[in-house]
Amino acid sequence: MRRVSVFGATGSIGQNTLDLIRRAPSEYQVVALTGGRNIAKLAADARALKAELAVTAHDDLLDDLRKALAGSGVAVAAGQAAITEAAARPADWTMSAIIGAAGLAPGMEALKQGGTLALANKESLVTAGPLLMAAAAAHDARILPVDSEHSAIFQALVGEDLAAVERIIITASGGAFRDWPLEKLARATLAEASCHPNWDMGQRITIDSASMFNKALEVIETREFFGVAPDRIEVILHPESLVHALVGFRDGALMAHVGASDMRHAIGYALHWPERRDLPVARLDLAAIGTLNFRAPDPDRYPALRLARDVMRRGGLSGAVFNAAKERALDAFIAGEIGFQDMSAVVEDVLTAMSSDSGLIDGEITLDTVAHVDHLARIRADEAMQVRAV
Ligand code: NDP
Ligand code: MG
Repeated sequence: MRRVSVFGATGSIGQNTLDLIRRAPSEYQVVALTGGRNIAKLAADARALKAELAVTAHDDLLDDLRKALAGSGVAVAAGQAAITEAAARPADWTMSAIIGAAGLAPGMEALKQGGTLALANKESLVTAGPLLMAAAAAHDARILPVDSEHSAIFQALVGEDLAAVERIIITASGGAFRDWPLEKLARATLAEASCHPNWDMGQRITIDSASMFNKALEVIETREFFGVAPDRIEVILHPESLVHALVGFRDGALMAHVGASDMRHAIGYALHWPERRDLPVARLDLAAIGTLNFRAPDPDRYPALRLARDVMRRGGLSGAVFNAAKERALDAFIAGEIGFQDMSAVVEDVLTAMSSDSGLIDGEITLDTVAHVDHLARIRADEAMQVRAV
């Protein structure tokens, strides 16, 4: 039996992961499941899957979790430190699907155990890519990408020599506002930004798709995971979301990964790697689809893509600044405190203000320095937002 843990089990990726695990219960021993506020779901899944341990991120919810799991034999714990401790329990395969910077410390801890880390939490690579990759190498652990684009690149590279890669193209649906008149964007509401044309995902990443902050994070994720130079990474708008990424080789060949917009594909690939197993995803009928469209993203509509380039040029801890400022600006947009377009303006303000501080940005990348820079960037973002508050 493979020992598996799922961090962020109550979220969109976590639930898709449990769906696959549930289909072959005799193959898996569930070690730890973690969640946040959704205690009912966490407890129900921990009970049904006979997990060894269930952890909520919130200390104040420990009693609720304990009550919900009374008599089940599932151990319970609460708090961010308890989540990281749960990652120290030996597991062969760990899904990293907490949203945001909070996913970094548990992912690092899991890598120290030397198993496989299936990485959905792109923020880990954006904030601390070199740290994560070094931890994997030092502990003989493996990171497998779960973001659909990165799983697609990974699959297109099987059997290929990285030195023969000329470029990597990641696709973007363009999100909820890809066809809106630009002047309407400033008035975009939370409900409008929370609808994705093709993917069913958590609310935060759905809004990040509308602003393209998600794609901006993914460009940096591509750089960190595959080690390719930033000028070899391209983004193309592809409204159908069926081609997930393409790898271009020195002979001009493009290898594309094409599949349904269903995260169980990338999760299943990481779960069964290096095998391919049957997955409950739709098979594409290309004749019925007929046409696939591609177009260049409009830089005025998606300033986040330009900011990602700035981050890659600046390097060091600027990814942690970028991500934290983005997370804070997104919180504020969700709370109705700033407008949709203010998010990129706030992030740019924070990046500009903090990038010149080389004592901070060019310091060593450790969990502590990432947490410090993250904290400062959120304070800076708050200051920048006071100026813009609606
Ligand atoms: P969701 O918001 O749906 O789920 C997030 C999970 O993290 C939930 O289990 C939530 O608990 C938990 N969580 C939230 N805050 C914290 C915290 N501070 N500490 C510990 N746990 C916390 O997110 P998604 O599943 O959409 O995304 C997860 C990750 O996967 C993200 O990094 C995202 O970028 C990436 N990803 C997601 C895709 C998708 O299709 N959804 C596609 C590609 C990548 P609770 O809900 O109980 O409060
Ligand atoms: Mg993606």
